[in-house]
Amino acid sequence: MKLNTNYDKLQNSYLFVEIANRLKKYTAANPSANIIKMGIGDVTRPLAPCVVEAGLKAMSEMGKAETFRGYSPDSQGYEFLRNAISAYYASFGVKVGAGEIHVSDGAKSDCGNIVDMFDTDNTVLIPDPVYPVYFDSNIMSGRKVVFCDATEENDFAPLPDDKTDCDIIYLCSPNNPTGSAYTFTQLKKWVDFANARGAVIIYDAAYEAFVTDSDVPRSIFAIDGARTCAIELCSFSKTAGFTGTRCGYTVVPNELCGGKLAKMWARRQSTKFNGTSYIQQRMAEAAYSAEGVKQNLENIHAYQKNAKLISDTLTEAGIYHTGGKNSPYIWLKCNGDSWDFFDKLLTQANVVGTPGSGFGKNGEGFFRLTAFNTYEKTQEAMQRMKKILG
Ligand code: PLP
Repeated sequence: MKLNTNYDKLQNSYLFVEIANRLKKYTAANPSANIIKMGIGDVTRPLAPCVVEAGLKAMSEMGKAETFRGYSPDSQGYEFLRNAISAYYASFGVKVGAGEIHVSDGAKSDCGNIVDMFDTDNTVLIPDPVYPVYFDSNIMSGRKVVFCDATEENDFAPLPDDKTDCDIIYLCSPNNPTGSAYTFTQLKKWVDFANARGAVIIYDAAYEAFVTDSDVPRSIFAIDGARTCAIELCSFSKTAGFTGTRCGYTVVPNELCGGKLAKMWARRQSTKFNGTSYIQQRMAEAAYSAEGVKQNLENIHAYQKNAKLISDTLTEAGIYHTGGKNSPYIWLKCNGDSWDFFDKLLTQANVVGTPGSGFGKNGEGFFRLTAFNTYEKTQEAMQRMKKILG
């Protein structure tokens, strides 16, 4: 037996462990400290009432012989949910057929699994800083990874140039961790680049529901030409608070590789995945109903209000940052080592964030705060930060 030695090439994923360790040490020494957590990218507000109602109804159906359901008839997802997702896209003017949608238990699984579709002999382009799953899943399967630099100079929204050489491109917009978002014009440059060289873009739209600017697309399929070069991953986690209940989907357009990729993905999923639970899919359907969208928007607006407060506070203090608009993340320049800034914020303001260096080399000197908290706690954190930043 030979192990997959690609795993030896992975760096230790120490970021959130190290944050937890430092926090534990500090609170042990300062038990009365009133810590405000603005670090981990997890939602804090409860599920929308109509989603809970749909979940309870589906659960009750499972308890009656006449409405009980076992395995889903189709690992691609129940038609009722794929139709609801297709209608959701249509609500912001993007045409995606129900047959092109593949329901899953979340975007992280799809991110990790989609690499099965591609030969190892492909060069993968990943922006730095990055959501680590794109990098790690390609290292695990032995692919060559190159980086494009997301920096202050390009407002953390890098574009392709003549030197960019790759076959598979990962883009995340609105971005985790930087909160930056591509405009229609910028994203069109990536689509044209990918089509010109026969590359594929794996587009992560997990934060699309946070888009507010009219020049920022909510889907790569809002861009002409994307249907011949892009796969879109999306999730109910941040849109509808499903981080603990789990549901996501991948859109593989029929035009991609003459329809071959959609068939391969369906085959991959039907071989290795038995579908997301019926209850979960009914909850997801409710999340994309007119009432669900309305109720979920109340949660999104609450996070957006926090994000704006953080962004306004930083602007007032003259601190360069991206995000806060179109995103629950705020990426700020901390002028120096990002772990030193973590310690300063923890010990002097009792606020916990995430050091940018944990997301890649270009993250050094930057820091991520999240809007996933209450307005009162965000206000309190900003008051405390003002004192140490001013
Ligand atoms: N993609 C990005 C950019 C994320 O930030 C996250 C979660 O934080 C995910 C995907 C994972 O989403 P899910 O909860 O659907 O697995």
